[in-house]
Amino acid sequence: MTTSRWIGAHVSAAGGIQNAPINAQKLGADAFALFTKNQRRWQAAPLGLAQIESFKQNCIEANIASEAILPHDSYLINLGHPDPIQLEKSRLAFFDEIQRCEQMGLTLLNFHPGSHLRKIEISKCLSNISDSINMALDRSKNVTAVIENTAGQGSNLGHSFEQLAEIIQAVEDKSRVGICLDTCHMFAAGYDLTSEEACQHSFKLFDDIVGDKYLKAMHLNDSKTPLNSRVDRHESLGVGQIGQAAFSFIMNHPATEHIPMVLETVNADIWTQEINWLRSLSK
Ligand SMILES: [Zn+2]
Ligand SMILES: [Zn+2]
Repeated sequence: MTTSRWIGAHVSAAGGIQNAPINAQKLGADAFALFTKNQRRWQAAPLGLAQIESFKQNCIEANIASEAILPHDSYLINLGHPDPIQLEKSRLAFFDEIQRCEQMGLTLLNFHPGSHLRKIEISKCLSNISDSINMALDRSKNVTAVIENTAGQGSNLGHSFEQLAEIIQAVEDKSRVGICLDTCHMFAAGYDLTSEEACQHSFKLFDDIVGDKYLKAMHLNDSKTPLNSRVDRHESLGVGQIGQAAFSFIMNHPATEHIPMVLETVNADIWTQEINWLRSLSK
């Protein structure tokens, strides 16, 4: 890797995890995100040794380092679940995801914090999430739990920096917890990104409340919905409600060096163009 900013997209792993680095390479990416199993199912066959070897080999050929790869966990997992049985089910599935990352030689696992489903207090849900992270970190070694900020749709928590900070506060091993900031979610949750000044203000809030040292990844998305809409709808970069200024700011922010930054934008046909545009913004 030659540049200090690692940019890619959430690529398909259809046909097996070994295909994800190939798909990333085709985009000219130096980072990528993937699901290591079907994201809409609880169960998955364990990863085979040959598959893991092939994944690693393809990452080397694509010249993408493990620290620039951001696996995303299943959408079914809710680490803050109000029901103890469902919570346990989520915790087991989350630990399985961590193990898959370890087997693949990966060091990050990106996940959505959790939802209270209007059945428990916000503070209880946040402490469930912290406990879930503690349990998973306790039983693993090399993977950092990377909490994604949310748009705050429905009862999803982690939309405010205060909530993210509260989750981290109760995590025992702070060296293995971090944040993935999604620009669309930030904006939908009420953090203005529509000008350089607005970005400065919003990112300063993040540093003050959570801390830049916890920024471990980014999802770069524009938003179809307006500021503080609490609705999560991704748009191609620069053509949504956020516009171009935010991406220029982010490409020159000191905290975004040496972390994976991945697109989850709506038109995969223009991902290469979007990646090249992002690279052109960094001064
Ligand atoms: Zn995201
Ligand atoms: Zn989203």
